[in-house]
Amino acid sequence: MELRINLTEQSYPIYIGRGVLGRLGEEIKKIYSNKKIAVVTDENVDKFYGEKVKSTLEKSGFQVFKIVVKPGEKSKSIEELVNLYNNILDAEITRGDLIIALGGGVVGDLTGFAASTLLRGIPYIQIPTSLLAQIDSSIGGKVAVDLPRGKNLVGNFYHPQAVFIDPDVLDTLDKRFFYDGMAEVIKYGCIKNKELFYKLMECDEKRILESIEDIIYTCCCIKKEVVEKDEKDNHDRMILNFGHTLGHAIEKYYNFEKYTHGEAVALGMYIITKKSEEMNLTKKGTAELIGEVLSKHNLEHEIYLEDRESILKAISFDKKSKGEFIDIILLKDIGESFIHKIEKEKISSFI
Ligand code: NAD
Repeated sequence: MELRINLTEQSYPIYIGRGVLGRLGEEIKKIYSNKKIAVVTDENVDKFYGEKVKSTLEKSGFQVFKIVVKPGEKSKSIEELVNLYNNILDAEITRGDLIIALGGGVVGDLTGFAASTLLRGIPYIQIPTSLLAQIDSSIGGKVAVDLPRGKNLVGNFYHPQAVFIDPDVLDTLDKRFFYDGMAEVIKYGCIKNKELFYKLMECDEKRILESIEDIIYTCCCIKKEVVEKDEKDNHDRMILNFGHTLGHAIEKYYNFEKYTHGEAVALGMYIITKKSEEMNLTKKGTAELIGEVLSKHNLEHEIYLEDRESILKAISFDKKSKGEFIDIILLKDIGESFIHKIEKEKISSFI
């Protein structure tokens, strides 16, 4: 399956298919004519796919330099970014060469940000290997690293030359991270696609895995539509942040250790919908449906917020804050989302 992200200044393909990884060398040859490639990955992904990717590229005549970072959000730090810059420069990669991000959202965001800034921009390709990265982070050009005071605070918009998605790699993904990605799949159903939402409600994990190619394709189509309408996240694209305002704050409050990104987003989607339902902004029964679908896919939806004040403080640093206001994403109904602008101080009524 193939789709194309069409933007004013750039357009790029997304290839989705089982076994794409094995054909990588031939595919990249069609879009890149120099020799050198730096492949950035993390230790976990390297163990399963590092050598496979390196050898398929070498067989197609490329000279490959593999750079391996530690797995986990901590690698999206300024220190790791500087290490990565140095490793890419040590490999003598120039602006005419290519960088590949082979991994989950952490590797994708870190590598994409490095590619966007080093030497004022080096072309790069995304090969996402986690479910979250395959349906979300590898598409749309947002790249970033974290600061100690918050996630993704240093970032850029920088699109890849192409995205190669091989659903077969999900076989080695830890179950917890598979469920984590399912939170974002559920998010797409909530904000834009009622049919997808009810499919997720019906299907157990086995059936989801059987139709994972189609599910990835559906999610990528939704992301494509939203990104093409609002590439720089000024308005429409914000709906992708459903559940994220609170989710990011929860992740940060627990120092990125207790909850994964998707687990925190799952909590955020349910809590905010429960409140918006109480305020008559959302159709009655919607939060219950979200809770049900989250439980079906092994995601918690209820949490006792011990320290509400710290969570609220974390939200005020959120990138979605604009002066005294913050945009939060709510649902009218399943499949129908809207942007709700509120004064920052009123956010406490939603938590
Ligand atoms: P991750 O990159 O940490 O991957 C999760 C874990 O799975 C890691 O331990 C990784 O090593 C491992 N892994 C990945 N693929 C594997 C595979 N096929 N087999 C075995 N192990 C594998 O986390 P993630 O959930 O993929 O991404 C989270 C990050 O994505 C966060 O930093 C978040 O901010 C970012 N994000 C970015 C965007 C964007 O638009 N740029 C959107 C959503 C999330």
